[in-house]
Amino acid sequence: MTFDQLGLEPDILRAVKEAGYSEPTPIQQQAIGPVLAGRDIVGCAQTGTGKTAAFALPILQRIDARAGDDPVLRALVLTPTRELAAQIGASFEAYGKHLDLWHTVIFGGVSEAPQLRELSQGVDILIATPGRLLDLHGRGKIDLRRIEIFVLDEADRMLDQGFMPDVKRVIAALPPKRQNLLFSATMPPEIRALADTLLHDPVSVAVAPQGATTADNIEQRLYFVERADKPRLLLELLKSEGVTRTVVFSRTKHGANRVAQALERAGLRAAAIHGNKSQNARVRALEAFKQGELRVLVATDLAARGIDIDAVSHVINYDLPNVPETYVHRIGRTARAGASGVAMSLCDTEEREYLVDIERLIGRHLDRIDHAAAPRDTPPPTDLASRTRPAARPASGPRPGARRSGRGRGGGGGGRAGHSAGRPSSASRRR
Ligand code: AMP
Repeated sequence: MTFDQLGLEPDILRAVKEAGYSEPTPIQQQAIGPVLAGRDIVGCAQTGTGKTAAFALPILQRIDARAGDDPVLRALVLTPTRELAAQIGASFEAYGKHLDLWHTVIFGGVSEAPQLRELSQGVDILIATPGRLLDLHGRGKIDLRRIEIFVLDEADRMLDQGFMPDVKRVIAALPPKRQNLLFSATMPPEIRALADTLLHDPVSVAVAPQGATTADNIEQRLYFVERADKPRLLLELLKSEGVTRTVVFSRTKHGANRVAQALERAGLRAAAIHGNKSQNARVRALEAFKQGELRVLVATDLAARGIDIDAVSHVINYDLPNVPETYVHRIGRTARAGASGVAMSLCDTEEREYLVDIERLIGRHLDRIDHAAAPRDTPPPTDLASRTRPAARPASGPRPGARRSGRGRGGGGGGRAGHSAGRPSSASRRR
């Protein structure tokens, strides 16, 4: 199937072509037509599947068809993190470059003044994290009364981060008659229940079976190791052949700092990104990583959520996540858009119960790798058959990113995407 067959307008097709996409990904093939037709959607898609374009392209077309002389806020995309919000904003920017529409991105943790300026000039499409959106809406700075299309992105992540009460408050502030699109990498019962109340006769689109299967093109390796041996093993893995651009995951911010410092001491160029780093430091680190100046990015889950960098060759789980779905999100950082990748997980004795949850969730065993630092008592393979709904186990340390979105403070993060000067826009201003 080609993009031309999906019913998209020439101006959008041109932008898609300029983005370098030759054919729609499966989620785009399934979702674009129904969204153009005004249908509600429940989309089960992991990151890296092209889901942003799956909703952004038809939204741009629908909003463009109704646009008058002045921008009216008609589409709202709610997403859990600042990185994701910025990335979705950049997608609207790219795909809408030949249209006469405005969008902006708002999130907490940074000055609201530029965001208020954008809003006061009028936008057609708003991409927001819940905390800052509720704050500004509560103060009368955002008018949601004419929203026609609402996207709830990464719904399972919203749940994980404790944002669900905020999400429900946002939904309550929307006009009742609207098109709703819900995307989630996984469909835990809470999200299923939300979908039942939010969506009207939705079209289900799925590119991975429900319950989070992981991309087939990711090789998933597992190393049993004692905790004390992890730093040494990590270095060894990072120095092995073909390990070029790697994201290392740590459950905690302090852990991420420690790992990055140890790598730097060992002569590897690395930086940590997490919620305690300033937006500028995060952007700088990401940019250096993209440019290849940094080989290793050490990230917490929340900070890494929005990383969309092509050619991440390896993901290393320095810690196993205590929420099994997080494993799927993490390894989705590699093998983006059809490339292949390798995910390597370091599992110490205390993390073995997390491994069981992960393997039951994805329905397969990770490839056990023999190596020198392996402990003697490696456990037998997980019994995949006895899968029950994996619940989040309490982590021994603080749970990364579990902090709740404070209204307007912190929330999903801060800053704005778009042009560095002037308004971030999909195109030039209509008036
Ligand atoms: P997403 O799942 O929306 O985060 O997209 C993952 C990556 O795939 C992004 O880098 C997109 O630019 C890229 N992408 C989206 N659609 C296509 C397509 N049809 N062909 C090639 N790359 C795509």
